[in-house]
Amino acid sequence: IPLISLLMIAILTGCNKTQTDHVEKKEEEKMLVGFSMATLKEDRWLRDRDIFIAKAKQEGIDVIVKNANNDSNIQLEQVKEMVRKGIDILVIVPNDSEEVKECIEVAKSEEIPVISYDRLARNSDVDVYISFDNVKVGELQGRYLAEHVPEGGYIILNGAKDDFNSEMFHEGYMNVLQKLADEDKIQILEETWVDNWTRETAYDFVIKGVNTHGNKVRAILAANDSLALGAIDALSVSQMTNDVVVVGHDADLIACQRIVKGTQALTIYKPITKLIDKTVEVCKQLLVDARIDSGETINDGTYDVPYIKIDVVPVTKDNIDDTIIKDGFHLKEEVYNIN
Ligand code: BGC
Repeated sequence: IPLISLLMIAILTGCNKTQTDHVEKKEEEKMLVGFSMATLKEDRWLRDRDIFIAKAKQEGIDVIVKNANNDSNIQLEQVKEMVRKGIDILVIVPNDSEEVKECIEVAKSEEIPVISYDRLARNSDVDVYISFDNVKVGELQGRYLAEHVPEGGYIILNGAKDDFNSEMFHEGYMNVLQKLADEDKIQILEETWVDNWTRETAYDFVIKGVNTHGNKVRAILAANDSLALGAIDALSVSQMTNDVVVVGHDADLIACQRIVKGTQALTIYKPITKLIDKTVEVCKQLLVDARIDSGETINDGTYDVPYIKIDVVPVTKDNIDDTIIKDGFHLKEEVYNIN
């Protein structure tokens, strides 16, 4: 073989090798997602964390998870740290729907796309909000109560004021209950917004409400199952658990156990796996195209942002087997406490 041909072969194989190396390197580079969580206090968030990690792993994505423990300053520091570590996408559950803006600015200054996960970040123009139909959560709670307690006194335990979901749930149940209150069919005896969604605060509030209004209390609307638990514990002090209809949401295991026992009437099941599947899919999409076309938007206070909305299911004693248990969200043995 002439020398010149050997030279050509060497150059060509050399080029090919560099090209292959380059491709291999690209394939090795995994996407790194920062999952900034506001809290792990309620059962559901542990599930969010664990399923998110598992799903990401399955898709070849690395995740850094941080829990801010209901503290916006900690959340900001954790986001800064994630950005320093080179995350490609920030998935954030705002601790405070307004204060989270700073976290999002940090990410955006590095051109890192942001997904507002489950809770809406206000005035922040995130790339996309992925959550459940939160207004429907409230409407389903309101509808159940309107049907089962069309007259009498109500106590309303709203969620934390700085969590925009609380506003959406409130909008939902008031869509149904306001009319009944205006017609004086139902009386809202007491209402509060519970800081940090604290169960103990709900307990104290219901203890006081029951002391003041006695058996005028016919229904308790609790914005989540944790507040419902506080309410039911308070009712049991006055032996009123059988006389008052309590609704919550989240499908916490304890709530499901109470539903089959009869001390809680309703919960709302939010299929977390669907929320995560969608989020991971959108993470991949965001890396190649910054625009998410969800077909629906929500106003964050300033901007209309794409809203990917996942449906929710009302659950009572009658359909718990065909919903929560059938989906494997909880095991039948756990819900019915069968040993
Ligand atoms: C979520 C609920 C949760 C609550 C307290 C809300 O934003 O939608 O599922 O129970 O926060 O953490």
